[in-house]
Amino acid sequence: MIKRQTTINRIFKVSGIGLHSGREVTLEFLPRREFGIAFVHNGITIPARYDMVADTRLSTLIAKEGATVSTIEHMMAAFYFSGITNCLVYIDGPEVPIMDGSAWEFYQGMWKAGVYEFPEDGVYLKVLRPVEVTRDDAYVRVKPLNTLDITMAIEFRAPVGKQKKRVTDVENAFSIINSRTFGFIEELEAIRNAGLAKGASLDNAVAIGEDSIVNPHGLRYKKELVNHKILDLIGDLYTSGYRILGKVEASKTGHHLNNLFLKELFSDPQNYSIY
Ligand SMILES: [Zn+2]
Repeated sequence: MIKRQTTINRIFKVSGIGLHSGREVTLEFLPRREFGIAFVHNGITIPARYDMVADTRLSTLIAKEGATVSTIEHMMAAFYFSGITNCLVYIDGPEVPIMDGSAWEFYQGMWKAGVYEFPEDGVYLKVLRPVEVTRDDAYVRVKPLNTLDITMAIEFRAPVGKQKKRVTDVENAFSIINSRTFGFIEELEAIRNAGLAKGASLDNAVAIGEDSIVNPHGLRYKKELVNHKILDLIGDLYTSGYRILGKVEASKTGHHLNNLFLKELFSDPQNYSIY
């Protein structure tokens, strides 16, 4: 567990295509003295924080003064797993590249860059009271606990069905980092007709066909899909700006509910303490 604020030890770049735009994008990661993760797009610095989130329909999108950056969640999860609290990410397009559909390549870049530690703390948010948001049969709840512990449940049509997973040692849950995003074949056409998912391919997503996984090599883990939902939740929770400590139970969540949860958490300062 990290104890203090950290940044990357050297500059590095990552390039790839945007899932929705299909365009090549380059990210340049720079060390930052100031607390927090922020993007710089078209000269505007946008904190990667829940109160900057402007759209959650297909990914988590942040916006400020006309500049936007979408699909930040996998990169944010990589920052969480790397223990990086402060970083500036210059981006030359409006969408974080999808890479292999997971947080793996961002995590690799951060790992190779190394960690530089500052003397200041204030990186943990300890949940002090139960907080919950529910929409229909989807929910995110958290109770006080001294570590981060996540239980996630999902339910989709066959062949996915119901899946549930609990991760008790989230900081070291490496099977979460490289679990890929997924989509259903029947939804792809509608999304493509809307001018989105132009970059989607079997190289960056798990495609779920009528009765089986379409990707020739299948899944990376038996529970890869629920793992990926946990990855998305970790990335979204890190837009709190802090490493959350609490027992999280979530079901059928998406980026919208994750964001509502953070707004609920921060709505009352008695819900948490920072240290
Ligand atoms: Zn995702």
